[in-house]
Amino acid sequence: MERMQQIVGRARAAFSSGRSRPLEFRIQQLKALERMVQEKEKEILAALKADLNKCGPNAYSHEILGVLGELALTMEKLPSWAAPQAVKKNLLTLRDEAYINYEPLGVVLVIGAWNYPFVLVMQPLIGAIAAGNAVVVKPSEVSENTARLVAELLPQYLDKDLYPVVTGGVPETTELLTQRFDHILYTGNTAVGKIVMAAAAKHLTPVTLELGGKSPCYIDKDCDLAVACRRITWGKYMNCGQTCIAPDYILCDPSIQSQVVENIKATLKEFYGEDVKSSPDYERIVNQRHFKRVKSLLEGQKIAHGGESDEASCFIAPTILTDVSPESKVMEEEIFGPVLPIVTVKSVDEAIEFINYREKPLALYVFSNNKQLIRRVIAETSSGGMTANDVIMHSVVPGLPFGGVGHSGMGAYHGRYSFETFSHRRACLIKDLRWEALNKLRYPPGSMEMMHL
Ligand code: NAD
Repeated sequence: MERMQQIVGRARAAFSSGRSRPLEFRIQQLKALERMVQEKEKEILAALKADLNKCGPNAYSHEILGVLGELALTMEKLPSWAAPQAVKKNLLTLRDEAYINYEPLGVVLVIGAWNYPFVLVMQPLIGAIAAGNAVVVKPSEVSENTARLVAELLPQYLDKDLYPVVTGGVPETTELLTQRFDHILYTGNTAVGKIVMAAAAKHLTPVTLELGGKSPCYIDKDCDLAVACRRITWGKYMNCGQTCIAPDYILCDPSIQSQVVENIKATLKEFYGEDVKSSPDYERIVNQRHFKRVKSLLEGQKIAHGGESDEASCFIAPTILTDVSPESKVMEEEIFGPVLPIVTVKSVDEAIEFINYREKPLALYVFSNNKQLIRRVIAETSSGGMTANDVIMHSVVPGLPFGGVGHSGMGAYHGRYSFETFSHRRACLIKDLRWEALNKLRYPPGSMEMMHL
């Protein structure tokens, strides 16, 4: 307990010194972070390989490019994001200055998840530094190599007191959560999200919760199935299905189910060759616990493709399940593995009903040539984000907020939205001591009548 108190206390003292506030300092820290990613790229990629068998281009594009892109955008736009924002005035404030001032919140806690272990702590960190905060970083212990590396590297490049890293598992996070923070951004599962929110409530600390859920993917009959299935295969099986916005299951008409299976099978061969296990582009399940959990979801299911596994190396082949019952276990919890169930529905109405009957997902996907149908699905459902005629891609548009709704989370970040998340929008009005005649309108006696004029 004392150790956490010390770490957070040191970060708070550093924040109180005011040195994290000037824009030049924030940009200098972001530049140092950029240098760290560039200089230590090899070490970062090695840690990702050790944790998740993430290799070459996959790891590079998901974790390195994403971070470098966010850094470049933030450094370029920060002066305009942080500038005071003038607002419209009314009769009583016509001669005054009214504006929004963005100010840092204080000490922010960022808790990351293991599936994209580098980017999931770095991206919130970038936003929190940009907004002028001190930040305590807690990477996931499940991806222990990346966690160790982040703890080793950040103090070499950044202000040590302002941006400490805490490693460890549930006991350490539990202890950390007893401390008072000014904001917490947590990425992980919904059950722990509730624990984080309960701990935050004790200090009235606001939270951003980046959670998961079952993201549906509806395929309309009027659709180029080959293209749709190639894109779905990419998003579903990347990182071995361990992506928070991966399409969790497919909804489609029974008449196209077998074509969907055939197209996905063909794409899998195109992507990973005849022997998926030896493909350098196919990752592994993170650990034995998750391996057993994902394997158990196959019990009693009709396996149309895949199903092979190897416990020792945490390998599960890309798998497709057909005619899946909505009541089965695989349709109850988020799969978070390379298993794709297909549930058949007879119409878009049934698909919408199916989606709305369940918790609001983090992402929603719809494939169709019919733009009207796409707009109808958007209008009649809700989800954190959505992409039509592709998967995952809304998360990489820099201008879009990334976050969930309902059980898939609250709040959002990425780009400008990160800056806003970690800033307080302070309402500022600077009046003049002159012009008292105008102000008399609101003073008694008779002020109320005047106000209603
Ligand atoms: P995890 O096991 O790495 O846990 C996340 C963090 O919570 C870790 O830092 C861990 O130390 C901490 N933690 C775990 N148990 C705790 C407890 N009892 N008390 C306090 N802290 C605790 O990750 P996970 O939860 O397995 O992550 C997978 C989930 O995260 C999936 O549901 C996925 O959809 C979701 N996810 C969401 C996003 C997003 O951006 N919305 C991104 C990635 C993952």
